[in-house]
Amino acid sequence: MTTGFAAIPNASAYRLTNARSALCLIDGASLAADPDGLALVDLGIEDGRIVSILPAGTETPDAGPALDLDGGIVLPRLVDVHVHLDKGHIWPRRRNPDGTFMGALNNVMVDREANWSADDVRTRMEFGLRCAYAHGTAAVRTHIDSVGKQIGISWPVLAELRAKWAGRIALQASPLFGVQFVVDAEHMKAVTAAVKAHGDGLFGCVTYMIPEIEKALDIVFRNAIEHGFDLDFHVDETNDPEARTLELIAEAALRHRFAGKVLAGHTCSLALQTPEDEARIIGKVRDAGIAVVSLPMCNMYLQDRQAGRTPRWRGVTALHELKAAGVPVMIASDNTRDPFYAYGDLDLIEVLREGTRILQLDHSGADWANAVARTPAAIMGCEGQGVIAPDGAADLILTRARDWTEFFARPQSDRTVLVNGKPIDRTLPDHRELDHLMAVAAQ
Ligand SMILES: [Zn+2]
Repeated sequence: MTTGFAAIPNASAYRLTNARSALCLIDGASLAADPDGLALVDLGIEDGRIVSILPAGTETPDAGPALDLDGGIVLPRLVDVHVHLDKGHIWPRRRNPDGTFMGALNNVMVDREANWSADDVRTRMEFGLRCAYAHGTAAVRTHIDSVGKQIGISWPVLAELRAKWAGRIALQASPLFGVQFVVDAEHMKAVTAAVKAHGDGLFGCVTYMIPEIEKALDIVFRNAIEHGFDLDFHVDETNDPEARTLELIAEAALRHRFAGKVLAGHTCSLALQTPEDEARIIGKVRDAGIAVVSLPMCNMYLQDRQAGRTPRWRGVTALHELKAAGVPVMIASDNTRDPFYAYGDLDLIEVLREGTRILQLDHSGADWANAVARTPAAIMGCEGQGVIAPDGAADLILTRARDWTEFFARPQSDRTVLVNGKPIDRTLPDHRELDHLMAVAAQ
């Protein structure tokens, strides 16, 4: 038997039987799970929607033809809450010379100044969306580099792509710039205007321990309250334990009684605090209602890198401790083939697989699949996504893996992706399609 898309019944009503799914990803069904948190179910699908979720083997006469999935794991389409579509795939023309964070920052800046026309940004962003869609992603939050002339170039492209991809991928964006620009009133005005014209009610920046950090955070929170923005920060992406802007963000959220959503990305240096400092900071993050996304592949690539020295740290934040304290936690892709990360393809199954290994998500509860599904869907406000639920869209990823060891042992390249109950073409775009943009001499 094959789960290739030729095998999906071509009928408006059909069933997927003997599907195995993580109990944490299913709503509205009474099921018993195995020790891995997986349950065998029969899914009824009608006119592109899930109409029933029943224990496998339940008699359902007249429910249409059935495809027996033979115990293969089924996931909802997944949600990528932290990516950089606008930076994607520039590596061939601007590589990271030493693989460090500063090497990434400086070389992206040079490439942006020289090459990021609307055409260039649009083509690379859409390439990323095509990859994400083919891998089975339903929603993407991207950061948009927002400094100087780039503000006027990238935000209209984002709006155009959001409209073009509606119905396939829900796209939303947050501005990205260093917190030192916050004290520049003209800059804040320009970014706020771009977000209001083209954005998704989402604002953010990269926080550093600059002397005026608390004043800058006050400006960001006041601006967000005035305009009704949610917030998304790049936080403490460093091995310097003195970097504690996460704590300052939590204090600012509490001080301003901020009612919007706040997402903190990276928070790497939290893992390098003393246990007392770590517990205090995590307590404030929880009290402030801040959610945290770890970017395991990118963090392991950039952090603790020194020429000639083997890394001793995986680069990731204290994700287990955050989760244990009740902080909503998630993992996401981050960069793809740019100076911040030389690899990546916006494949959340890769992120879940590598995240499981890097963060040791295994042996620690059976609900980690939520970190790329239900939890990011909630922070993005994507109702009904990242979950398998009655009356939800039949947006599913079907695999042949029958348990997590089979699932994580292989890349699941033979997965089938259903959108509204129909299999999509999973052909990935060829990197050669971008060659014409890379023709400028790499410096
Ligand atoms: Zn990022």
